[in-house]
Amino acid sequence: STPAAITSGLAAATRRGALIKGGLALEQLGRIKTIAFDKTGTLTEGKPSVTDVVTFNGSEINHSLAVAASVEMGSHHPLAKAIVDYAEQQGVTLAHADNRKTLAGVGVEGNFAGKKISISAPSKLERALDNRIQQQVTNLEEEGKTVVVVLEEGELIALIALRDKLRDDAKAALKDLADLGIHGVMLTGDNARAAAAIAAELNTDYRASLLPEDKVTAVIELNQQQATAMVGDGINDAPAMKASTIGIAMGSGTDVALETADAALTHNRLQGLAEMIRLSRATNANIR
Ligand code: ADP
Ligand code: MG
Repeated sequence: STPAAITSGLAAATRRGALIKGGLALEQLGRIKTIAFDKTGTLTEGKPSVTDVVTFNGSEINHSLAVAASVEMGSHHPLAKAIVDYAEQQGVTLAHADNRKTLAGVGVEGNFAGKKISISAPSKLERALDNRIQQQVTNLEEEGKTVVVVLEEGELIALIALRDKLRDDAKAALKDLADLGIHGVMLTGDNARAAAAIAAELNTDYRASLLPEDKVTAVIELNQQQATAMVGDGINDAPAMKASTIGIAMGSGTDVALETADAALTHNRLQGLAEMIRLSRATNANIR
């Protein structure tokens, strides 16, 4: 039978907006030493917006936006939604793109008006950008922005920069965790310069340019060193959540993330993490 301490611990957690799925999860939470966080949608709101569009090779801004948004249309990635929204705000007419293909953690491809389009992270390009363009990318990334490149028939037609806001309580949540002796690590597929800018604001460690499978490897490594929880919101985060001692989903996360998780933060309150840990530690102390 479940000890009374566990039952009351679970009930207290629920009242504070943390859903913990059972006594084992509650106990394990009390032993967590590291928390790995997905960035987009977890530490940030996951609603980036377009901040800059820079065009090349005689391409017009509206043409670049029509191409990019038409190929991104239908993709569930937050960057895709932001590009489509921005194009619509600018009054650009979108059209159907054929052979759309999503490459997880990399970008999208498709055909638009008979031309092959690819949109991806600059780091995923087969050949290096010329120095002047690379410098523009670097400058944007150092502002914490994510830059994607738009290629038409292999030729660069635009850079699109986007920026996402930190969740209101992200900084406070990481501070609370640090006060509990918990080490935070942000895991992201985003570029190292943007990740560094964001990690500095949050005062946390980070690992950048990770593909979804690299996030799993990172979590396995962290978990071998110290009991690690993984907090995420997306389908792509589910494998890393499974590889951790405790997977924690954002309340507004995808169904897959919520199903995989051992615990969830209702109302996406990141500060619920420190509360969960304190409660679990207290419960563990009561059982012994
Ligand atoms: P995160 O870890 O921040 O959630 P992802 O792993 O989803 O990021 O994506 C990593 C990178 O791949 C993005 O920063 C972007 O450069 C590129 N990318 C992914 N999906 C898309 C897309 N639909 N359109 C353009 N670029 C994309
Ligand atoms: Mg995410």
